[in-house]
Amino acid sequence: MNQINEIKCTFLSLSQNEGLARSIVSGFLLPLDPDVEELADLRCAVSEAVTNCIVHAYKKSVGNITLTLKAYDDRTFKMIIADKGCGIPDVALARKPLYTTLPDEDRCGMGFSIMESFSDKLDVKSQIGKGTRVTLTKKLSSPDVT
Ligand code: ATP
Ligand code: MG
Repeated sequence: MNQINEIKCTFLSLSQNEGLARSIVSGFLLPLDPDVEELADLRCAVSEAVTNCIVHAYKKSVGNITLTLKAYDDRTFKMIIADKGCGIPDVALARKPLYTTLPDEDRCGMGFSIMESFSDKLDVKSQIGKGTRVTLTKKLSSPDVT
C-alpha cells in the first residue's frame, strides 16, 4: 500500500482543542468519502485520545499534543496521538474496560475500549515521565456508489 496523504499538527492540551482535533479528522477524511458512521466513530476516537492527554498526561499543567493522520491507497487510515506527559505505568491494565485512575472526576474508564471498538488495531506505547503514543489503524469501507 502506498501513502496518499499525511498531516501533522501540534496543539496545546486545552479542552477547546478536542473540537479542533475532531474537525481536523473530518477535514482530512472527507475527500476520502468516508461512511458517515465511520466518520462519527473516528471523530469520537480522536476525542477520547485527546481528552486522555489533557486530563491524564498533563493533568493540571498544559503541554503539547501532536496529531498525525495518514491515508493509504487501499483506504487504510492511521491516526497517531502523542503527548509528552506523565506516561502510563501499566498499559495492559489501563486498556481494561472500566479501569480509571480518576474515578472521582466522572471518568468511567471506557476511553481505550471505545477507541479499540472503532479501530482495526489500537497500539499504545508509553514510557513513564516521557509520554504516550496511541496509534489507531482503520481500513475505511468502500465509498457508497449509489
Ligand atoms: P473515560 O475515558 O471513560 O472518561 P478514563 O480516561 O479514565 O475514563 P481510559 O481513557 O480508558 O479511561 O484510560 C484509562 C486510564 O489510562 C486512565 O484512567 C489513565 O490512568 C490512563 N491514561 C490514558 N491515557 C493516558 C495518557 N495519555 N497519559 C497518561 N495516562 C493515560
Ligand atoms: Mg479517557
